[in-house]
Amino acid sequence: MNDCVASIDIGTTAVKGVLIDRLGNAHGEVSVPLETSRNERGWVEQEADAWWSAVVRIGQTWRSEGYAEGIRCLVFSGQMQDLIVTDERGHALRPAILYSDGRAEEEAGRIKSRIGEREIRAVTGNHFDGTFPLAKLLWLREHEPDIFRDCRRVLFGSKDPVILRLTGRAACDPTTGATTGLMNIRARRWADGWCGPLGLSADLFPELIPSREAAGVVQPQAAEETGFPSGIPVLAGVGDAGASTLGAGVLANGELYTYLGTTGWVAAYVPEPVESVSGLFHLAHPADSGFIATAPIFSAGGVHQWAVRTFAKSPDDYADFERLAAESRRDRNPVLFLPYLGGERCPVQDPNATGVFLGLTMNTSKADMAAAALEGISMAIREVRDVLLSNQPTGQMTVIGGGGKSAMWMQILADVGGMEIFVPDNAEYLPALGAASLGFVHLGWSAGFAEFRSDFLGSAAGRRSLPDPALSGHYEAKYAKYRRMYGTVKPLM
Ligand code: ADP
Repeated sequence: MNDCVASIDIGTTAVKGVLIDRLGNAHGEVSVPLETSRNERGWVEQEADAWWSAVVRIGQTWRSEGYAEGIRCLVFSGQMQDLIVTDERGHALRPAILYSDGRAEEEAGRIKSRIGEREIRAVTGNHFDGTFPLAKLLWLREHEPDIFRDCRRVLFGSKDPVILRLTGRAACDPTTGATTGLMNIRARRWADGWCGPLGLSADLFPELIPSREAAGVVQPQAAEETGFPSGIPVLAGVGDAGASTLGAGVLANGELYTYLGTTGWVAAYVPEPVESVSGLFHLAHPADSGFIATAPIFSAGGVHQWAVRTFAKSPDDYADFERLAAESRRDRNPVLFLPYLGGERCPVQDPNATGVFLGLTMNTSKADMAAAALEGISMAIREVRDVLLSNQPTGQMTVIGGGGKSAMWMQILADVGGMEIFVPDNAEYLPALGAASLGFVHLGWSAGFAEFRSDFLGSAAGRRSLPDPALSGHYEAKYAKYRRMYGTVKPLM
């Protein structure tokens, strides 16, 4: 086997490993499913030791297939915002409490009153609630004192107990660190002076290590167990959102990508946290000292699905919906659509907001309403983009997730946003490639992230939709009306 970087993602549904050779080709893909336990109280947990077992299985598979000798570096990505408590060597003392577990609301309230909400926002760049690991840690101290007493390491990313078991070092990358509620996001170190008032010992916390640096090397005993070569570097790695950002090639001011699933998010590189709007979340960018600003969009594929169900011949006939929307003379279609069918989270935070059609006439066809629905979702995305980028123009946006399958939606998004939309063919590999780029830079195979992007990401095959200049005036005027719609009709919702 040729030289390669092993990229392993510890996600929520599976641990997935893939080997990336120096030409950027993927080999030896292995996926090991994971189980999640949920209870009626909203607790969401996973066995942290199952992550290790899955990594062992992947390593042993690669060894038996003859890949192991070529591995030059291990890069992990994975869930962020978890609470994992372990002994000195990374063995879990209880199941990991996952990011979506909100059991620690009460503790979050106590932390906010002890530290001060403004101080938390100023230091971490983010709001604070019961999903943050810092709050979960206080919950653990309160409700499971024996485990808290035995705990020697507190970790925050699903990859970090694995890295500890491989290298002997407790590490955290700054992207994951930004989701803890405890990291000074500008300085990328744990917040000064918070442990005292919270009664915590700073010795419990892992070292913050830049993503591309080695946390350590594979120790001989771990090499024997996993099948990875002894002595190869294991990088600090990156939280999953950071891997997606690198994979989407978002590296500099003004660059962004969008994930359009049932719900979605927009993520942009920003040189400074965007102070003015809540509903945004900030992460440390893994490639340099910048930031990733992300905004959730509730009105994404779910609303598209609703429109298909409502207007197409049959409830899931996406192709018929595409044909229908294409029949609308969009340059003359006055119908406006506010897509907040399930409320919205950014830039307005209003769980009770509803959808609105406005501007129907006797001439309005089903096709006009279908096209207006896609325009409305696209305008919601544009509004979030403008907030993230403080209204600076952008030339291109990469779209990943199922929504990219709708060519009509992507064309409308290009027209409404005045930007090229790029839907890569191999989107499922992008986060793995993004994580692998850390290994390429670490090993000197790529001179930097921009070089990695132009060698392996920029040339990627995919579908590009270009904005139609003939429609730009029409959509600017329509967007200006759209922006006034929510505030105007809100009292009636
Ligand atoms: P999730 O994993 O969040 O459910 P996906 O990435 O699978 O999301 O995306 C789901 C969305 O993809 C749907 O809501 C719909 O907007 C879009 N979609 C799915 N299938 C098609 C299709 N055949 N044609 C067009 N759009 C589709």
